[in-house]
Amino acid sequence: MSDPTSEAASTATDENPSVRRLADWDADRLQALASEHDTPLYVVDLDRVRENCARLRDAFPDADVRYAVKAHTGQAVLETVREAGLDAECASAGELDRVLAAGFPGDRVHYTAVNPPARDLDYAVSAWNEEPGLTITVGAADTLDRLAERGYDGRVCVRVNPGVGAGHHEKVRTGADVKFGVPYDRAAQVVREADERFDVVGIHAHAGSGIDAGQLDSHRELVSRMGELARSLATPDEAGDATGADPVDLEYVDVGGGFGVPYEEDAPPLDLQDVAEATRSALGRVPRADTAADADADGAPTEATLAVEPGRYVVADAGVLLTTVNTTKPTAEETVVGVDAGMTDLLRPAMYDAYHPIRNLSGGDREETPVTVAGPICESADVFGTKRPLAQPERGDLLAIGIAGAYGYEMASQYNSRPRPAEVALEDGDARVVRRRETLDDLTRVER
Ligand SMILES: *Cc1c(COP(=O)(O)O)cnc(C)c1O
Repeated sequence: MSDPTSEAASTATDENPSVRRLADWDADRLQALASEHDTPLYVVDLDRVRENCARLRDAFPDADVRYAVKAHTGQAVLETVREAGLDAECASAGELDRVLAAGFPGDRVHYTAVNPPARDLDYAVSAWNEEPGLTITVGAADTLDRLAERGYDGRVCVRVNPGVGAGHHEKVRTGADVKFGVPYDRAAQVVREADERFDVVGIHAHAGSGIDAGQLDSHRELVSRMGELARSLATPDEAGDATGADPVDLEYVDVGGGFGVPYEEDAPPLDLQDVAEATRSALGRVPRADTAADADADGAPTEATLAVEPGRYVVADAGVLLTTVNTTKPTAEETVVGVDAGMTDLLRPAMYDAYHPIRNLSGGDREETPVTVAGPICESADVFGTKRPLAQPERGDLLAIGIAGAYGYEMASQYNSRPRPAEVALEDGDARVVRRRETLDDLTRVER
């Protein structure tokens, strides 16, 4: 499909590199933002979000690219992604509400229902009444019954548990987890039954998060299983065990997200072109059932579209978290540096042992020393990094925590009665506050 000699084959360029490292951010600019808006402060660069969308579209020119919005649901980010031409993949009624408010038309909205609360299904069905192009992805036959009870007969995609998982931590490896999707060996039957009551448009699988170059094999395995399933649905007479079944016409095969981002300073960035080629070749041809026997004007049968749904990849390197040093404490092993951000602002290190790069923006040419960077929460997990070589931190210094745009603000909480931080968006050289800092009053707002 893509000509390797064409310009599109090289998705990363000098103007749009594969990753923006923490070291690439303008320290003076970040210092100025922290002075003006105080810390902890999230900074999200919408221009970088746009670049990430562009690289994805270049690497997957014939695919549907859907942004898994749970990585960052800020309105400014959603609007940027919509303008960049990606669809939206939602995991809850709240996310549906946000993407519709950000102007996504229904036919670019996908809702993946995992054990959906009744309230979420009610919302999704009422949204579908307004926007009939919306698609609901289900991971259990129960969910189909619950949709039918609500009068839904619209577009349905069936989530399959492909039995292969990938991911940077066991908590995000969803592909082989029984929680997600219809078991692979029952999937064809569930799809055929669903097709009698709904407009089945696709099959879906998501293996988890953190696919990197070393895990391309399990991605390939997942995609090829999905290709096999799709072909047996589209052309049952050619699939030995399904002979006689009605063909199911699939618009698309969605192979999920999980495109990795290099959190470590020296980790190589994902080669999107490699991932795209591996994906296309592992999927193979999936003929549209209604056209399996005939052909388009050029004599080629119409094929189902490939769909991918990256979340992290779109926003991770577009965000940093700024935090101020308030304590330095020498201990026998190393210096502990206390900062004003904690696990309530950025949960990933505490929850997944995730690594985030840290830089002392005030360090100048001070000597580097290994430090532990810890937050103000009464939990031993509230540590952003240990043995980190930072320019000797002093009270009042500004630290930047990098690659914090995905699952950063999104997982922030008010634990320890800490108001959530503010967020500033950068775009075309301007900066604007897109989420104000919460106040102590915000903490008690819902109490009666
Ligand atoms: C979270 C999620 C994604 C995105 O995962 P990333 O690692 O952020 O790319 C895609 N699809 C589904 C169904 C998800 O739950």
